[in-house]
Amino acid sequence: MELDDINTITVLGAGNMGHGIAEVAAMAGYDVVLRDINEELVQEGYDNIEWSLNKLAENDQMTQEQADDALDNVTAVVDLEDAVEDADFVVEAIVERMDIKKDVFGEVDEHAPDHAVFATNTSSLSISEIATATDREDQFCGMHFFNPPVRMDLVEVISGAETSEETMAVTEALAEAMGKTPVRVRKDVPGFIVNRILVPLMNEAAWLVHDGTATIAEVDSTTKFDIGLPMGSFELADYVGIDVGAHVLDYMHDELGDKYEPCPLLTEKVDAEELGQKTGKGFYDYEDGGADIPMDEHSDLVKERLLACTANEVAYLVGDDVASADEIDEAVKLGGRWPKGPAKMADEYGLDALYEALQSAHEETGHPRYEPDEHFETVAEQGGFYDDAGDDDEGAVDFDTLEIDYPGDMVGHVELNRPQQMNSISLELIEELDAAIDLFEDDDDVRAILLTGAGGKAFSAGADFMSIAGGGADPFDAVELSKYGQETFGRLEEIEMPVVAAIDGYCLGGGMELATCADVRLATTRSEFGQPEFDLGLLPGWGGTQRLQRIVGMGRAKEIIFTAERYPADEMADFGFVNEIVEPDEFEERAQEYAAKLAGGPPLAMRYTKRAMHKGWDDHDAGLEVESLGFGHVVNSEDVHEGINAFFGDDEPEFEGK
Ligand code: NAD
Repeated sequence: MELDDINTITVLGAGNMGHGIAEVAAMAGYDVVLRDINEELVQEGYDNIEWSLNKLAENDQMTQEQADDALDNVTAVVDLEDAVEDADFVVEAIVERMDIKKDVFGEVDEHAPDHAVFATNTSSLSISEIATATDREDQFCGMHFFNPPVRMDLVEVISGAETSEETMAVTEALAEAMGKTPVRVRKDVPGFIVNRILVPLMNEAAWLVHDGTATIAEVDSTTKFDIGLPMGSFELADYVGIDVGAHVLDYMHDELGDKYEPCPLLTEKVDAEELGQKTGKGFYDYEDGGADIPMDEHSDLVKERLLACTANEVAYLVGDDVASADEIDEAVKLGGRWPKGPAKMADEYGLDALYEALQSAHEETGHPRYEPDEHFETVAEQGGFYDDAGDDDEGAVDFDTLEIDYPGDMVGHVELNRPQQMNSISLELIEELDAAIDLFEDDDDVRAILLTGAGGKAFSAGADFMSIAGGGADPFDAVELSKYGQETFGRLEEIEMPVVAAIDGYCLGGGMELATCADVRLATTRSEFGQPEFDLGLLPGWGGTQRLQRIVGMGRAKEIIFTAERYPADEMADFGFVNEIVEPDEFEERAQEYAAKLAGGPPLAMRYTKRAMHKGWDDHDAGLEVESLGFGHVVNSEDVHEGINAFFGDDEPEFEGK
């Protein structure tokens, strides 16, 4: 079957996941049949879809008409035969019980058309075993969405023992058609990729506390502020539900042995019904302020143990050909919202050091959880999961947080590419921006820089507090970080070519400070601006106290910073911050057109004009000096001849920068 053959998708189960999957399919234009075991449950699922679509419309993520059209695509059904008789694709998201899933698929197999492909959204059960309930094991796979499907980009597409390549390919294509990023899981292993990484990590965190190696504060401080994960390990367990994590661990323990024995700290919490946020109490007390994680209680030992255990899981997945290091990193970044993938993190730490740490922990404690996977030693000897591990001096820049491309007309395009994090600015992003500026500066074919943000929601919503607080726990580090951001953003002011920031969505805090360094700013009507640092008790640390006032005047700059309020694009245009406002559907084209126009300008004149303007801001006389020297420099240049000839010939000039 091919993607074009799919018109009708049946979603079994209208609960948490089922209604979300149905919503995503309906938004992609499919006819969706939503089924649950009684009228009330299926109606509840339908109502949840309606609520969510309306919310998206309210937040301008779609028009009300698109929301209404999507809802029109959904039919709620109770009878199972009616639900599947016209299905081209069936996604099952019912309760997580093997016996029930098999019963349901047995019945579905009888009534669905022969060509229909079946997929299960199970989080932990064996795909291959569920498939045995049908006579089409080759047309059966896992399609594991993340919660909530409408917001989470990742879909793990999992091959069962008998799944055909055609089934995998069409399921991946369908995930893409639903606007998601599929990652292939080549074998049906417990936890697939994301849970295989996250759940043992949670277990290890608990064991470290249980064994008396560290406190909860130390583990969470290390995970969040040193390793830089979005949440502390215990904070995450509370957020997901300790019972949910423990359930996956139980399954891994049964299937894979004592390496995955759930730590008593977790099972005790489950027995006490202290399951985390949902019960008001878990490792933290949510009726008393919730997770309160110190920024500066890092422990090197905790970091090494957590990374070593994670690397061990990655080694297994790679070594057993479940997925490549790249695929694992992509899955965990999308599904776990990690700023960097686990393979990359392990490589950066040093895989041989982690291997040794795991071995010595195993010798010291004798616990099977520290037993290195058979593949770990091999990858450690090879020097890392990636070929270029530790090869920093090769000169090639590998961009993780930016996307660099060359859209033509001498424009170099930098896209801030952390859409899951609203393109927030991390230390790594600043480093990469620095490298990207080098790249364009050295490239004679680039004459203008266009800066945008990926994902359609934000140019950049500000600083990434994980990385900032991680570096900023020590005031000296914070000063360095502030200086580094100031300087790197400032390079855009200093660079001799024009820089256009094209803003669609949020442009806040550090993101706004970055946009301030561009020479001109375009923004869509729906964009919002602000310096919210005061709300956090902070101050703008990447040039905001100095540069904003140059553009909007000191009075407005003070207003924007002191009130910490959000400003719509039209008001920012009135302040002179935004040079041009565009409609969202014209945004990309206009941004490129604008940058291309500036790229076509005279490079020498641009160089001296920018230099004179910026010099003159600090020192009027120095600015005038640069202006006159620059004037003298360009007056006899080929570009001026070209410009004058073109003017009299009524032609477009072609400047060469000579
Ligand atoms: P849920 O309890 O919210 O919903 C399950 C729904 O399935 C219920 O409404 C139930 O009535 C219905 N159902 C339909 N047919 C059924 C039948 N024959 N017997 C029993 N119940 C039937 O559960 P959920 O969180 O949506 O999880 C559904 C599936 O998705 C599970 O396999 C789960 O492992 C998986 N999953 C869950 C998450 C998550 O975060 N919740 C994430 C990924 C995958």
